[in-house]
Amino acid sequence: MINYGRQDISEDDIEAVVRVLRSDFLTQGPAVPSFEKSVCDFTGAAHAIAVNSATSALHIACLALDLGVGDWLWTSPTTFVASSNCALYCGARVDFVDIDPKSYNMSVERLAEKLAIAEKTGTLPKVVVPVHICGQSCDMQRIAALAERYGFRIIEDASHAIGGSYDGRPIGECRYSDITVFSFHPVKIITTGEGGMCVTNDAELAARLRRYRSHGITSDPALMSPRSEGEIWNYQQIDLGFNYRMTDIQAALGNSQMVRLEEFVDRRQAIAGRYDRAFADCDVVTPWQHPATRSSYHLYVVRVPERAGASEQSRVYEYMYEHEIHVNLHYIPVYRQPYYERMGFPAGYCVEAERYHREAISLPMYAALSDAQQDEVIGRVRAIAGTRRA
Ligand SMILES: *Cc1c(COP(=O)(O)O)cnc(C)c1O
Repeated sequence: MINYGRQDISEDDIEAVVRVLRSDFLTQGPAVPSFEKSVCDFTGAAHAIAVNSATSALHIACLALDLGVGDWLWTSPTTFVASSNCALYCGARVDFVDIDPKSYNMSVERLAEKLAIAEKTGTLPKVVVPVHICGQSCDMQRIAALAERYGFRIIEDASHAIGGSYDGRPIGECRYSDITVFSFHPVKIITTGEGGMCVTNDAELAARLRRYRSHGITSDPALMSPRSEGEIWNYQQIDLGFNYRMTDIQAALGNSQMVRLEEFVDRRQAIAGRYDRAFADCDVVTPWQHPATRSSYHLYVVRVPERAGASEQSRVYEYMYEHEIHVNLHYIPVYRQPYYERMGFPAGYCVEAERYHREAISLPMYAALSDAQQDEVIGRVRAIAGTRRA
């Protein structure tokens, strides 16, 4: 069986984890700050806060930006549900901006149109979450210009995108955003088993994120309220936070995986290039790349065009499964999920995201995919999708 994604664990990774198991600290020890530092060094961000998942990272990022009841968060419909659930955790409302038909990222044109309307109706978003789908950066410069004009904050959901770049700068540098979030789930670029991280250049936001990660507790005397002489107050809870901490076991794995991050992304780029060439005369649409981006290729998505309004996607999907190739579909538009439909989102709300949903198939893409395995995938796709018709 060939899955669409999987981790790549080396002997060094295993040794790094075992060293922690033999050490004094399984959690709240030195491995977490060390992993945070290596992500800061790589991305150029000033602060990093490791947590137990990207979902937790998105949640505390929203809280740190004061998202709450009465506020709006906007994101792309073509994403994992966590990109929008984070708003609901905070009591805020969610809306979706349709995708660009070429990059599959949030369309900056649709965003601009929607903002102009929201300004008139007094429903501007407090936070916008651009998602770097498949590992390709959104057009952050243009989104940041809109943030300036309309006064919203930006959380980049870079769950797919560590190791990618925009305008020659690493994703996570936060040049055009308040906070960037990474995921370290095993199918992503590097893994900690479960895990996530917020990075930011804002020291105040970083301090708040750290507190939300750990119960809202501080031991900074400057933040603590004065108490009677003689009583011991070695910490105080000043916000309502959570236990979203990453363990040292996970951080050691993450830190060890960071050593190979560039190698992983280079390998994913090579696999993508090979797919692109193999499907050049094939009746599938290969991923378009914006010239300002270098994708980390978390996913390699081909689109199987509809024919006479009928989906060809399930025919390809099932054929691949019959041949033990576990392709996937990323993503069902979030607002089509029953939970979101109950909030009143109608079918047809985002036309491009829905068309994409009827055509997209994620092919196997991971650093450890061998050329022989990739050849098998290529052969199957060519056999079922056929060559391009005139
Ligand atoms: C994987 C993913 C998440 C959630 O990551 P976890 O670490 O599993 O919580 C959020 N957003 C996107 C776009 C993802 O792909």
